[in-house]
Amino acid sequence: MRINCQCTTEGVTFRATPEPGDPIPVQGVTLGRQEAFVRCPNGDGFGSPHPDLLALAALLVFRPWIGKTVDFPDLALSTEFIEAVKQGQRLTARGDVRAGSSPPRRKPDNGRPGLAFSGGVDSVAALEVLPAETALFFMSRVAPTEEFSAWVFSKDGPHRALDALRAEGRTVYSIETDLEFVRSPPGVPLDWSNGVPMVLMADRESLDAVTWGLILESAYRIGRADFQDWGERPGFTRWALLFASVGLDMFHPVAGLSEIITSKLVMSSPHGTMAQSCVRGPGGAECGECPKCFRKMLLSSALGDRGFDFSTMARFWRSKRVLRTVTVYPIKHQNVLAYSLLRHDFEDAGLLAIQRMILASHPSFDLYQRHYAPALELVPEKYRTGVAERIGAYAAPMSAREEIELRAWSMPNIDDDADILALHQDCVRILRRSHEASLAQAQAGA
Ligand SMILES: [Zn+2]
Repeated sequence: MRINCQCTTEGVTFRATPEPGDPIPVQGVTLGRQEAFVRCPNGDGFGSPHPDLLALAALLVFRPWIGKTVDFPDLALSTEFIEAVKQGQRLTARGDVRAGSSPPRRKPDNGRPGLAFSGGVDSVAALEVLPAETALFFMSRVAPTEEFSAWVFSKDGPHRALDALRAEGRTVYSIETDLEFVRSPPGVPLDWSNGVPMVLMADRESLDAVTWGLILESAYRIGRADFQDWGERPGFTRWALLFASVGLDMFHPVAGLSEIITSKLVMSSPHGTMAQSCVRGPGGAECGECPKCFRKMLLSSALGDRGFDFSTMARFWRSKRVLRTVTVYPIKHQNVLAYSLLRHDFEDAGLLAIQRMILASHPSFDLYQRHYAPALELVPEKYRTGVAERIGAYAAPMSAREEIELRAWSMPNIDDDADILALHQDCVRILRRSHEASLAQAQAGA
């Protein structure tokens, strides 16, 4: 693939030209638009970002569709970056051959971390445990043309949060980009793609580290697959190498924290009211009907916030999206769901069936109230003590026995386990019935 980068005071445009050998995408995700624009805040340019930063940002947008080589004809890349791309991504990168190579980007003196801020619970939790000087970058999705406008959600919720943080004296940016339309159907091409604004601002804001609100369940695959050490997973190692080559330490301050702790932390933090995990409701509010709202509302009720009204479960069961989420095995974040259900009394047949099924594979979920301290080893030394102290104010570390229990987390293969399979089939039957019953109820009421 060839990628052209054009910088103006308005922003940066990346244009991709696929070449023979670039992969045919899988799983129904294809390269949609071949161009992405990132608008600079205030229209005064990103400064002159180091060429390696521009190339890294382009890789965060187009990597899934690049075969074995990538050409950046406009960028004088450093040999260090080219080597990191080779090691980390198994890609041959070429820069502007006539311009020669640039010296690598070094960490700035007195640098600070950046956070890819979404406004959700996990990123507000990350904000609480990072130092106060952390700069926040919200990726604001804009449609490239009118035909994509239905894909743009309200940003009122996150923008209210950003305004409040700005008023506190925090460094915050909302940076518009249409990069998600490079993917068809639209969405972030990679887990780290919302870090593009942060990477482009790295020189202007003297960043020496980049962070995300990634939590235990995602980092260590808890609740969905067998435990795998985050520090050894390619999603981390292959990209951390690239970020390191441009003077940015990639780290995840809440990777040792389950969603149970991040929710608890945010509820008791001064920024608790600004965290919002869903923006599908009117005016960008939480919709109270989707799978995420279902899990988060049950959890915050289990943690002592607004009580969950089980008599209104029908509104969730009505939703096809909720039905799809709870009838697959494992259910996303099922450790969190089990923890929440065990802290309530209810008679809902669907929830009881879910609870029976989850408890059959894992009897205890108490350890998720404590943090997994080995995750801190991946936090750069400069920030480690501060992050550890701030986490310690909200959650105690797991005991050595609990750490072993966590590392032993595994998901039974449902086809090899007759008991779980039977419980799952039972669960699916009951949930389908709940779905149909609540649809009928809604129609009768309408
Ligand atoms: Zn929702």
